[in-house]
Amino acid sequence: MDEVILGIDLGTTQSAVGVVDSGFPILLADEHGEVLTPSAVWYSADGEVSVGAPAMRRKGVSQVITSVKSLMGRRFNEVDGQEVGCEITEVDGLLSVITQAGPKLPEEVSSEILKHLKNVAESRLDRELTKAVITVPAYFHDAQRAATKKAGELAGLEVVRILSEPTAAALSYGLDRLDESARVAVFDLGGGTFDISILEMREGVFEVLATAGDTNLGGDDFDELIMNQSLAELELKKESLNENEIALWMLEARRVKQQLSTEDQVQLRMPFFGEVEWGREKFEEMMKSFLDRMEMCCRRAMLDAQVAPDDLQSVLMVGGSSRIPLVRTRLESVFDKEPDLSQHPDEAIARGASIQAGVLSGAVREVVLLDVTPLSLGIETMGGLMNVLIPRNTTIPCKAGEMFTNAVDQQSSMKVRALQGERELAGDNWELGNFQVNFESARKGQARVGVEFRIDADGILSVLARDTSTGKDTVIELGSAAVDVTEAKVEKMVTESVEYAFEDMSARVFEEARLKAEELLPAVDVALQQAGEFLEEVELSKIREVQKEVRSALDEKQAARLKFSVEKLDEATESLAALLLEKVTGEFFSPS
Ligand code: ADP
Ligand code: MG
Repeated sequence: MDEVILGIDLGTTQSAVGVVDSGFPILLADEHGEVLTPSAVWYSADGEVSVGAPAMRRKGVSQVITSVKSLMGRRFNEVDGQEVGCEITEVDGLLSVITQAGPKLPEEVSSEILKHLKNVAESRLDRELTKAVITVPAYFHDAQRAATKKAGELAGLEVVRILSEPTAAALSYGLDRLDESARVAVFDLGGGTFDISILEMREGVFEVLATAGDTNLGGDDFDELIMNQSLAELELKKESLNENEIALWMLEARRVKQQLSTEDQVQLRMPFFGEVEWGREKFEEMMKSFLDRMEMCCRRAMLDAQVAPDDLQSVLMVGGSSRIPLVRTRLESVFDKEPDLSQHPDEAIARGASIQAGVLSGAVREVVLLDVTPLSLGIETMGGLMNVLIPRNTTIPCKAGEMFTNAVDQQSSMKVRALQGERELAGDNWELGNFQVNFESARKGQARVGVEFRIDADGILSVLARDTSTGKDTVIELGSAAVDVTEAKVEKMVTESVEYAFEDMSARVFEEARLKAEELLPAVDVALQQAGEFLEEVELSKIREVQKEVRSALDEKQAARLKFSVEKLDEATESLAALLLEKVTGEFFSPS
């Protein structure tokens, strides 16, 4: 029998599974005929698990885990507990979800959803299925992709490809059959998040030109808006409701919202609390600020991709919330064309994942897929700064490298820290991993170490460092269950490197600033002796003041202050340095 690979949309609010059958992608329905499974998981105290609609029905009565996707591959101190649909805690340094059966890792909870989808598919197709393509948002970084892979493995699925959601959406719309160099926008407004991507066909190859979005904007916001306004109209305080009541209110608000997409007038009914009339206009008026945020993201993506609305052949709408009529109207004005609604917006991604799975299993003809890096990748350099090697929105697979040298005399090793993010300071970005490169002891600026980043088609990064004098290479793979590194080790490395990133960083900033200060302070003293007399009094006192500042920052071991004051000292002594140089070269004394 042919190999069958599943295509899975592991969504924040809803998930779905499909396969290619006779050349067509089909979604597989559960025993109730539903193809969309709520991404909800419930655990009983003795570890019994229920997933999907049955779990969702317990909402408001018992503890149900929702939106676990937003926690995948993230650190505890990075997540605002208020924002997520469940309670979280930290166990052994790892973010965990509190369930009635004790704390669980987000990938464990996600794996329950995947197990459920696997079961649905197996009973539909009446065979065992062990491979899957799983989609993730384009902006998911390595740790989030790795956690998604892990969830698949815990569910007994080999994840043969992690696919970006916009790419999947575009595939389902048949973009592989688009004209040469056609460009399109994929607009995805789901339950908790919003993503906009600009894609292009180029020489038969499919590329993502840019992605933008808001990880905190989606259908849930609209539910909350309806709930809050309704409470206000009934003169009820949200604070007076308990958790279960709030969950029931949210469910009813969601029903009202969804019905307003097709009806003009809907009544919100909460037994024991009251009724509120909702007209579509009232709802639309309140949505304005959300639509403005959405519009900004769309414009940003067009800017990043360097396209104007006229350059886009079509706008594809994905995500359940794109069924809201006003969302469509606003999009039409932003992109200056009618959006394409030919696919069910909440099924498109699973269909696309199924097509990709079909391509990989040989059930569909080959389509070449390219993606982009959602965030910049680089390494830390002198002064604790981020040195970007691969800018965000670079098409993958890709590689890029640069030459680095040693910062101090007689140095014989260098620590390479691979970073992901858009911030200037290394410490503000994500550390993906680090390793040591050894080279022959050399004078400052003499060693030559080449560092190269490579990203494969799955978005998995490997870093190579080469000592050019010996030709010796050090390579590490990051964010994947790579060939010669055990998965547990990769995970541990990613988690640990991330955990210690901040402490390392401030120490390193201080260390580097200290090196510079200890070089600069005596040099300035010497310069002052030699050429100080030629400086204006204001300049002299400025230099002395900054010197004092540097010394006190050194004494008090304040990294940021030291870095800043050393930079100030460098600036303040600019004309002194110039004077000194002139003196050395003799020009200062030569008649003009
Ligand atoms: P995700 O990708 O986040 O899992 P989906 O794309 O499945 O989410 O979209 C789920 C969201 O779509 C929910 O907030 C849901 O309320 C909303 N939604 C579904 N149908 C409608 C509708 N007819 N009108 C408005 N919103 C809808
Ligand atoms: Mg989605």
